[in-house]
Amino acid sequence: MSKNKNSESVKVVVRCRPMNEKERTAKFEGVVSVNVKLGQIIVRDPKKASDSELPKVFTFDSVYDWNSNQMGLYNETIRPLVDSVLLGFNGTIFAYGQTGTGKTYTMEGVRNDPERRGVIPNSFDHIFTHISHSQNEQYLVRVSYLEIYQEEIRDLLAKDQSQRLQLRERPDTGVYVEGLSSCVTKSVSEIKHVMYVGSKNRSVGATNMNEHSSRSHAIFVITVECSELDADGKNHIRVGKLNLVDLAGSERQTKTGAERERLKEATKINLSLSALGNVISALVDGRSSHIPYRDSKLTRLLQDSLGGNAYTVMVANIGPASYNLEETLTTLRYSYRAK
Ligand code: ADP
Ligand code: MG
Repeated sequence: MSKNKNSESVKVVVRCRPMNEKERTAKFEGVVSVNVKLGQIIVRDPKKASDSELPKVFTFDSVYDWNSNQMGLYNETIRPLVDSVLLGFNGTIFAYGQTGTGKTYTMEGVRNDPERRGVIPNSFDHIFTHISHSQNEQYLVRVSYLEIYQEEIRDLLAKDQSQRLQLRERPDTGVYVEGLSSCVTKSVSEIKHVMYVGSKNRSVGATNMNEHSSRSHAIFVITVECSELDADGKNHIRVGKLNLVDLAGSERQTKTGAERERLKEATKINLSLSALGNVISALVDGRSSHIPYRDSKLTRLLQDSLGGNAYTVMVANIGPASYNLEETLTTLRYSYRAK
């Protein structure tokens, strides 16, 4: 692994959720152990076959077990990235993993439960607390919320939810979503309200909420603009952008025995997740002069927030039980490669 700037600015962490009620009742064997001190995830073979490549050890920037709490993860892994956004850098946080492993729990958490608030609401508090303590600076916080489903972009804050938006590129501003709404928010309660409106639109637009949300990428974008007067009375403006991304489920969709429409969808999901993996590993590797941003809408859209001076955190979520072994290994290999 080469030590260049990008390997410092891209962090990959893994979080393993607890066994759920169903798994405990069915007495599924746990196959994952987590060594928090060493940053290691160890995967065992429940059948202990002699020709197995397991147990296997994967090392990451940080790892979180089933006892980890939301604030611990925020303070250790997310806070430094959001601090850099407040300084005018761009940053992106991804939740990656098989459906049911805790992506939404990590990003949104449990509504109305302060102990289990996720990354997105914790970042609201962080940003507005910072603003309330600032003295010579003026802040403007703007929010957009969009979804990519089957390579189509929907503005989750738009009045007309049947509209689809296009990606455009301009030499001066780079890649942008044409016609995307953006709301100015002045407080935590305002920005929370905007998040709820968008989340609601996300579920209303879909015929089957669960399936839809597991097959689409949701991107919550917070732009923080700060203007400051220097000693000579000159106005300096810096702009940082925070992208909070709840990715589509990474599971192999073909397994669910799908009709043609499903399969088409599955191919697009796999394509955009593998495009993201390729971009991140090219950035970390540092030797490639070509970063393949153009291979998916997701990576094109996030181009100005991946690589360059931007910071990236990928939280890879896994489950502990034996029946998830294959998907867990796939997630660990994907994330390990991203590092
Ligand atoms: P995903 O978004 O990846 O499909 P969810 O976030 O919906 O998965 O999580 C599935 C279930 O597991 C939810 O009921 C969630 O509350 C629970 N869960 C996920 N991660 C954790 C965790 N770290 N601690 C406790 N419960 C969790
Ligand atoms: Mg989810």
